[in-house]
Amino acid sequence: MSLLQTARFLTTVAQLRQLPRGGAPEVAFVGRSNAGKSSAINVLCQRRRLAFASRTPGRTQALNFFALGPAGEPPVACLVDTPGYGYAAAPQALKQQWDTLAGRYLQRREQLRGVVLILDIRREVTALDEALLGWAPSGAALLVIASKCDKLNRSQQARACGVVTAAVKPLRPDGDFEVLAFSATTSQGVEQGRIIIERWLARTSGPAEQEPP
Ligand code: GDP
Repeated sequence: MSLLQTARFLTTVAQLRQLPRGGAPEVAFVGRSNAGKSSAINVLCQRRRLAFASRTPGRTQALNFFALGPAGEPPVACLVDTPGYGYAAAPQALKQQWDTLAGRYLQRREQLRGVVLILDIRREVTALDEALLGWAPSGAALLVIASKCDKLNRSQQARACGVVTAAVKPLRPDGDFEVLAFSATTSQGVEQGRIIIERWLARTSGPAEQEPP
């Protein structure tokens, strides 16, 4: 079984002070509402309903943590689902809440090893996506999942991924990121995504350090 397949719900965090302790490495999933983030997490972990989209746009402003590693033991790593953003209808207050919780988490979390940005392959990279990439620490790896690629043929996919690459490059001048055409429906790109994320975690994962008594 791959590490991602061991994913199970760990905790929901509504305030920064509730973040899990223990230092296990984390990978955060971010994206506009409806981009396909929940579907991507579920298919990467081969779980039907691990992550689920909030029914009310912009309502769930919490971070959901999923533990990885042997069941019954402290997590060797965590996946972190952040609230979808970018609904035009979301009130300003909710946007600010995203900034204060998920935004601060991204900017400050020391054990953040990687960020997975989910985009709908048919849409442009938005100003919010860019702001968020600006927050992700340069030390954290970046994978851009261009989701719903089943809606395009291969040459359209290649063109769309090229556009995404060009949009992201100025934000990652070292060029250290990957763009992956991905479909939760056909599983295109899923195995590759799993390999990339598990490679990030393999660099650093191990049992979380014991806290002093
Ligand atoms: P989230 O709001 O970003 O978590 O998005 P969801 O995962 O809930 O997906 C939003 C909508 O897009 C749902 O209707 C999904 O069925 C659909 N969707 C998600 N991924 C794919 C995909 O790879 N291909 C297609 N065709 N539809 C998808």
